[in-house]
Amino acid sequence: MQLTPSLLPELISAISQVIDNNAEEVTLLDQAIGDGDHVINMQRGLQALNAQAAQLTELDWAAAWQKIGMTVMSTVGGASGSLYGTLFVSMSKAAREKTVDFSVFATAFGQGVESVKQRGKSDAGEKTMLDVLIPVANALTQAAADAVPLSEVFQTLPDVAIAGMESTRDMLATKGRASFLEERSRGCIDAGAKTAQLMICTIVALLAEQLKTE
Ligand code: ADP
Ligand code: MG
Repeated sequence: MQLTPSLLPELISAISQVIDNNAEEVTLLDQAIGDGDHVINMQRGLQALNAQAAQLTELDWAAAWQKIGMTVMSTVGGASGSLYGTLFVSMSKAAREKTVDFSVFATAFGQGVESVKQRGKSDAGEKTMLDVLIPVANALTQAAADAVPLSEVFQTLPDVAIAGMESTRDMLATKGRASFLEERSRGCIDAGAKTAQLMICTIVALLAEQLKTE
């Protein structure tokens, strides 16, 4: 399967759509334990990325992720803006001067998530987007090490993301705005974990479709 940045316009558009379709639900989650702006932050970034989508197709992955990271950092705002910006800039560094196959992608994503942990001074179990990103990164690294076929990876990854998102419900928030609520932060899924799951499931679905047509 040939994965090139020519896929980006379709990916960005599909991600925008899934965020729009779930805007009400995610906003309710962020209103419950945050300040309610998470969807608006994400939509602002996605709108900027949609406007750049054609330019992104002319780049290699390292340059495309760098550009995406810078755009996300300057448009998304909030904690999620700097964290997702960091993810993409770090992925770009890991992919520089490399041909991006599945194994390089898994390594780059793993390094990106590691940078998000450092940037957010956070780890798994703190009721954030990392409760989705970390298990997904681990599953990708394991699949690449075991040379698992892509069709199988695409089948199992959504469940990993969904389980991570669900796991935040009963967690105590110790990072971000939700941590101000202390014990009252329990009982509600984290908004950032929800959007991370939605985006990952959308990307996987689109790539799985692509794989079928080959
Ligand atoms: P803000 O909290 O600044 O209003 P957003 O609403 O856009 O920003 O994003 C909030 C999401 O960001 C949270 O739901 C959580 O998933 C994630 N988040 C916040 N702080 C951190 C952190 N320190 N580490 C990892 N993720 C975080
Ligand atoms: Mg917020």
